[in-house]
Amino acid sequence: MKSFVYARATDATDALTRGAAEGARYLGGGTNLVDLMRETIEQPTALVDITALPATIEETPGGGLLIGAAVRNTALAEHRAVRTRFPMLTRAVVAGASAQIRNMATVGGNLLQRTRCAYFYDTGGSRCNKRHPGQGCDAIDGFNRSHAILGTSPSCVATHPSDLCVALAALDAVVHLAGRDGERTVFLVELHRLPGEHPEIETVLRPGELITAVEVPPLAFAARSTYRKVRDRSSYAFALVSVAAALEVREGAVHDVRLALGGVATKPWRASRAEEALRGRPATAESFAAAAHAELAGARPLDGNGFKVDLTVRTVTAVLEQLRGAEA
Ligand SMILES: Cc1cc2nc3c(=O)[nH]c(=O)nc-3n(C[C@H](O)[C@H](O)[C@H](O)COP(=O)(O)OP(=O)(O)OC[C@H]3O[C@@H](n4cnc5c(N)ncnc54)[C@H](O)[C@@H]3O)c2cc1C
Ligand code: SF4
Repeated sequence: MKSFVYARATDATDALTRGAAEGARYLGGGTNLVDLMRETIEQPTALVDITALPATIEETPGGGLLIGAAVRNTALAEHRAVRTRFPMLTRAVVAGASAQIRNMATVGGNLLQRTRCAYFYDTGGSRCNKRHPGQGCDAIDGFNRSHAILGTSPSCVATHPSDLCVALAALDAVVHLAGRDGERTVFLVELHRLPGEHPEIETVLRPGELITAVEVPPLAFAARSTYRKVRDRSSYAFALVSVAAALEVREGAVHDVRLALGGVATKPWRASRAEEALRGRPATAESFAAAAHAELAGARPLDGNGFKVDLTVRTVTAVLEQLRGAEA
């Protein structure tokens, strides 16, 4: 690990001042960044610890939430309003990592964690366009069982690893940002970029920009929502496929639905095509499967991960059937 300076920011203004320095990085729980520094993939000259920034979860008018970026993942999952009004959020958080990591990890850091592609981590000889732009990608013709089938490019097929982001994508969450030029908001689904020809540019964040909060707008039927994660082991593993869903059925038909996918795409994937295919349709297993197929029409499986197409269809169908059952 290269040497660096460390400072704990007292407030957002202090963080922005310190974060403007060349080579500075914000530090949440450090559960991803410090690992990347040990591997020399990230080599910041300064760490600006933002864990003294507000770590509150405020309930907004109408039933939404404003979640401070420094809130720990465990605190988010345990919050009463989150558990009762947005259970998919709690389920997504507890499906990720281990209790010890969730106790350290922050909401802001979870949004900006980097891919778990094994070639990205292999600094001992693998080619990776995210680490070294233009170098090539050893995953595309390599062992790509866990890689993406949606949103890929000839430059990168890495999945986005966050479970929390999938639930936030389904819920139309908004990310609050602060920069030296002022504050702005972006939708969570627009925070992460598709890889295109520049997979090394992963988000729309500007240099030195700080995530201050994540806002979840009110959504009454999200009280009947869930998150299901399919993985090789029942804990401590990243998703092969995951589904965040909320469903509102009226008189046997889908009145409204929210769907997002994890483990299959290069960014948290809002399944808008599936949602469109479902609204107004009978709430049956056939409609659910047809909608999932519509979403996956654009999938581009690699040699090792074609199984994800069928697994996604089955998982979406099973989750929606579960939510329909809960409605009855
Ligand atoms: C063994 C292991 C298993 C895991 N399994 C899962 C899993 O199954 N599912 C899952 O979703 N995650 C998993 N994780 C990842 C874990 O959730 C992330 O490491 C964690 O969420 C990152 O949060 P952090 O606060 O520690 O971020 P840090 O490591 O501190 O930071 C991560 C990045 O975010 C930036 N950053 C942090 N806060 C801010 C801010 N407020 N504004 C701007 N930039 C910021 C940092 O500069 C850095 O670039 C796993 C991690 C480990 C080590
Ligand atoms: S898939 Fe992306 S992260 Fe993985 S080796 Fe290829 S370029 Fe790197």
